[in-house]
Amino acid sequence: MRAATLSDGRFSVETVPDPKPARGGVVVKIAACGICGTDHGIWRDHLLPDGTILGHEFAGTVVETGPGVSDWQEGDRAAVLPIPYCGSCDLCRSGKRNLCRLGLQSMVGCGGDPGGLAEYAAVPAASLRRLPASMDVQLAALVEPLAVALHAVSLGRVEPGTRVGILGLGPLGLFSALVARQYGGLCFGLDHRASRVSAAHSFGLGAFAADDLADERIRDLTNGGPDVVIEASGRPESIERAATLARVGGRVVLVSSYHAPAEIKPGRWLTRGISLLPSIAYGPEDFDTALGLLATRRIDASRLVTGVSGLAETQAVFDRFETQSDAIKILIDPGC
Ligand SMILES: [Zn+2]
Ligand SMILES: [Zn+2]
Repeated sequence: MRAATLSDGRFSVETVPDPKPARGGVVVKIAACGICGTDHGIWRDHLLPDGTILGHEFAGTVVETGPGVSDWQEGDRAAVLPIPYCGSCDLCRSGKRNLCRLGLQSMVGCGGDPGGLAEYAAVPAASLRRLPASMDVQLAALVEPLAVALHAVSLGRVEPGTRVGILGLGPLGLFSALVARQYGGLCFGLDHRASRVSAAHSFGLGAFAADDLADERIRDLTNGGPDVVIEASGRPESIERAATLARVGGRVVLVSSYHAPAEIKPGRWLTRGISLLPSIAYGPEDFDTALGLLATRRIDASRLVTGVSGLAETQAVFDRFETQSDAIKILIDPGC
C-alpha cells in the first residue's frame, strides 16, 4: 500500500507492506485522516523515528477481518478510536481513562501502531465505532479532535447558561466553542488572527481580536468574567490571561500542548479562587458523544473541513501548518 512515511524529517509517499488483521482486529481502508497540532509537534520536534506512519484522526471502511471478529464485516464504515485504554490501571478503573499511561503511550499514529496517513490501517475491532448510514465517512475523521474539545468542555462543567471564554480559535478552540454552545454555554472567544475571529463569527460565535480591550469587553458581556475559560491557544502567556479573565471563583481549562514554560502569578490565582483543570485526550465516552454530535449534525462538521489533500501533499500540509491561517481542519484523503 501507499503511505506517507517520515524519513530524515520529511514526509514522502512510499510503498510499504499491506497491513494484516491481527486476532480480534480488522483492516480499514482509510477515507480521511486529519492532521493536528500533535502531529505537527511530533514532526517538528522529531519525536518519532524514520518510517513512522503518523495520523490518529481517521475513519474508513472495513476491508478485512481477522480471526475472532464476528460483529464487523467488509463494507462496514467506522471511526477509529486511536487510544488503546488498558482497562485495568487505577486511572482506567476510576473513570479517568483519558490519563491511562499505557493508552496514551501506545496511541495509534503517535508511537503505537501505524496511523492513518496510509491507504490502510490494521486496528483492533474494539476501537471501531460504527457510523450511521447518513454520515459521510470522511467527516468521521473529525470525531477524534471533537472528542478532545468535548472532554475539555465537560471538565469545565459547561451547562445551560454557563459563561464561557475561549482563548485561541484554532481548530481546538473553535471545536470547544461549538461543543460549549451545544451544551447551552454562552461563548466568547479571542484570537490574534483576524481570519480565525471571522471564522468564529461565521459559526455565529461571539469573538474578538485578542487586543487589550477584548478582555474588558468579555468581562462586560459576561457580567464580571466567564465562569470557565478554555485556554486553547497554546501560548504560555495566555494561561495567566485566562486566570485574569475568569470570574472570581471561576475555572481555567488547559487543552493545548505547551512547548515553553509559563509565568503565572500564583497569589492572584489564590486570592481569586481560580481552579486549574488540565484536559488531556478523552475517554471512550467522550468519543462516542462526539460521534453523536456529528452524526446528528448538531455540529455542522462539513463547515469545519477547509481542505482535503492527497497523501503526496502531506509534507506541504505540514509546512503550511503555522502559516495557513484560514485553515480550520485539513484532511488527507489517501485515495486521492
Ligand atoms: Zn489530533
Ligand atoms: Zn489504563
